[in-house]
Amino acid sequence: MSHVVQAAQRAASRSTKEWQDADSKHFFHPFTDHGGLAKKGARIITRAENIYIWDSEGHKILDGMSGLWCVNTGYGQQALVDAAAKQMKELPFYNAFFQTSTPPAIELAELLAEVTPPQFKHVFFTSSGSEGNDTVVRMVRRYWDIKGQPERKTIIGRINGYHGSTMAGASLGGMSGMHAQGGLPIPDIVHIQQPHWFELGQGMSREAFGLKAAGWLEEKILEVGPERVAAFIGEPVQGAGGVIVPPSTYWPEIQRICDKYGILLVSDEVICGFGRTGNWFGCETMGTRPDLMTFAKGVTSGYVPLGGVMVGERVAQALIDDGGEFNHGFTYSGHPVACAVALANIKLIQQLNLVSHVKNNIGPYLAERFAELNDHPLVGETQTCGMMGAVQLVKAKPGTTFASELEVGMVCRAHCFGNGLIMRAVGDRMIVAPPLVMTRPQIDEMMVLIRRCLDLTLAEVRERGWL
Ligand SMILES: *Cc1c(COP(=O)(O)O)cnc(C)c1O
Repeated sequence: MSHVVQAAQRAASRSTKEWQDADSKHFFHPFTDHGGLAKKGARIITRAENIYIWDSEGHKILDGMSGLWCVNTGYGQQALVDAAAKQMKELPFYNAFFQTSTPPAIELAELLAEVTPPQFKHVFFTSSGSEGNDTVVRMVRRYWDIKGQPERKTIIGRINGYHGSTMAGASLGGMSGMHAQGGLPIPDIVHIQQPHWFELGQGMSREAFGLKAAGWLEEKILEVGPERVAAFIGEPVQGAGGVIVPPSTYWPEIQRICDKYGILLVSDEVICGFGRTGNWFGCETMGTRPDLMTFAKGVTSGYVPLGGVMVGERVAQALIDDGGEFNHGFTYSGHPVACAVALANIKLIQQLNLVSHVKNNIGPYLAERFAELNDHPLVGETQTCGMMGAVQLVKAKPGTTFASELEVGMVCRAHCFGNGLIMRAVGDRMIVAPPLVMTRPQIDEMMVLIRRCLDLTLAEVRERGWL
């Protein structure tokens, strides 16, 4: 029996309403108003293939978000399925705590050292991006302890950055809604403004604004005291914050400032890694040389959970030389099944030449097609980087925004859902991050849907008298 038939039978074993009722009775969803969802009912997704997903009502939807920024090689890749099945039969689990190791974890560590920039020869495995960033906090502070500078504890992140949802991840991130719940950030984590030209830089050239935004890091270092600053962390391109592509001047200047004060640079590559920006890693696109690099999502194309931290020579050497124990780790650090799937996934990225496909083919094509949206009355700015794109909705050009309480982005998102497209709204910024296996005709297909949804949004906004 084919998996399509099986999926259809499973979905049909209950009506959509029955799935929704059971869902709201028992399943607390991430970042969700539970009461609100219970009234509406979740959309039940039952199967997927290539760049499409299907819901329990049989609707086919183009997944413009790669699941959640992760299904880089697309759905239905048999090599990943086979790798998981084979590993589950051979050795479904063994830990790496007590001087033991497993072949998939070793081979993956080796392959990661090969595909990451040359300063990275070691990896610490976790099961998620959040755990990766928790590991970063502990490792950065451990590094400075070993170096005899324990007063260097402060880590600088950015407002509207996203680094996960654990205590440390949410603290490193700069999401005010997250900080408001649970007494965050934890001590010695501070934030600077983001390099968001549309919000903070209009009236300046993008290049001049990039330098100014990087300058906020130096200001903060001097405010905290350079002898107390341990590290700076940022996403090469902010993802959850709204696909904010920084000006080209920004990251090189950040690197210069980190070097000047000797502080560690951490690149959170959970979204930007594994081809998303048109290089293996976002730091290569942006021209930085990070000391630590967090990854997750695209490493397995989301088929199974895996994350980790690439440890650059500077920190790795300190940890090795010190000889003491680093008191940190997870049951699933180096999980053999997750590592086997990651190995198969990275090999697939290599076989399909997906990184150059993004850099030289579909990335530039997405950029070209997104730029065409600027003729639409609702569009104030478009930005892309590799296979990430943003459309900023405005009330009037160039940069007059709608009142945020109107939630025009949510209006647009509802039209996307209703018209067979997953496109996310971050405020009034509509964003996509489609699978890297996308073809040009599929981008054309997505652009037809995007334009249709913008037109429907414009009609609704007019009808409501918001223009
Ligand atoms: C998703 C994400 C994380 C958190 O990863 P989880 O696997 O959800 O814990 C961290 N950093 C960035 C940049 C992300 O996009």
